Amino acid sequence: MQDGKINLRSLLPEELAAVLKDMGQPAFRAKQLFEWASRGAESWEEMTNIPKQLRAQLAEKFSLGAPAALRKQVSAGDGTVKYLWRLRDGNAVETVVMRYHYGNSVCISTQVGCRQGCAFCASTIGGLVRSLEPGEMLEEVMFSEKESGLKIGHIVLMGIGEPLDNFDNVVKFLRLVNHPQGMNIGMRHISLSTCGLTERFEELARLNLQLTLSVSLHAPDDETRSRLMPANRGRGVAQLMDACEAYFRRTGRRISFEYAMIDGVNDSPEQAALLARHARRVSAHVNLIPLNHVDERSFAPTPPERISAFRKALEREGVNVTVRRSLGGDIDASCGQLRKKTADALRAGTERE
Ligand code: SAH
Repeated sequence: MQDGKINLRSLLPEELAAVLKDMGQPAFRAKQLFEWASRGAESWEEMTNIPKQLRAQLAEKFSLGAPAALRKQVSAGDGTVKYLWRLRDGNAVETVVMRYHYGNSVCISTQVGCRQGCAFCASTIGGLVRSLEPGEMLEEVMFSEKESGLKIGHIVLMGIGEPLDNFDNVVKFLRLVNHPQGMNIGMRHISLSTCGLTERFEELARLNLQLTLSVSLHAPDDETRSRLMPANRGRGVAQLMDACEAYFRRTGRRISFEYAMIDGVNDSPEQAALLARHARRVSAHVNLIPLNHVDERSFAPTPPERISAFRKALEREGVNVTVRRSLGGDIDASCGQLRKKTADALRAGTERE
């Protein structure tokens, strides 16, 4: 909501139909309007098949904006594109477009900042500012595609923020982006990543969305996990595994465990053995990620040869495991770093004035 207006791109066709019906308009107008919104129209004037007077009436109720690219960085190595988008209220979020052999994937933010406090993550340093609206998440996908000219086929909710801490808006966004009259991106091409807000798992499973749930595990034991991830305190690994098992049983969808390898913290043979036990129990796929360096954090990544040994230990236990290729290393492509650095630079700039 901005100036008392609702973001047009936050509404599903059936909601637009209800609004238009109240305005005495025929039902087909909702489809036209939804298509314009989903195609990234940036002004009401573009909507040439909608009568001018109706456009003027709609403009009083709804906002039709586009985020402005505050910064754009393109990786020289792998073509990864990173945007820092300025939202209508002046806040900023990051979106990253990654190029893979199977197509282009976009990593979107779900909140401005984050309140989860993970010890290795840059996104959480300033806490949570606010949650994103459904239309704002849609705009990240839409305008990254439009601006980069790269057709988006996959979405990962792995940018700034905790998707399950913005549950209703995230679910609405998923319905918007998946809609056949809209961007029409298949749920099976979408991954939602969570630090493990287990109280939301059942609700998500009940929606039966066919997306991939990624759980940021990062440690198999409570002592290490609670140290790294405050979300583990008061929940615990046992509760998380129960929730994962129930989710898998209910949806039949394999969960992914994200595991950022941190030197001397979560990479011991004992931790590999315990991780293997958890993964086997819930049939999870394990994704090992070399920790990305964050200036404000003291953790170091596990060296490649020990990542490899850790991987082999998991494989010996029959666990399905991949080591994530790191993209965009030259452009601060990992979570929260660009927003943070720009905020620091802007602050430094202001202080100099
Ligand atoms: N809040 C959600 C999604 C955003 S974070 C979640 O926790 O899953 C996306 C992924 O990046 C998570 O797995 C997160 O733990 C991981 N991550 C954060 N900082 C990282 C870093 N410095 N190096 C590697 N992975 C990191």
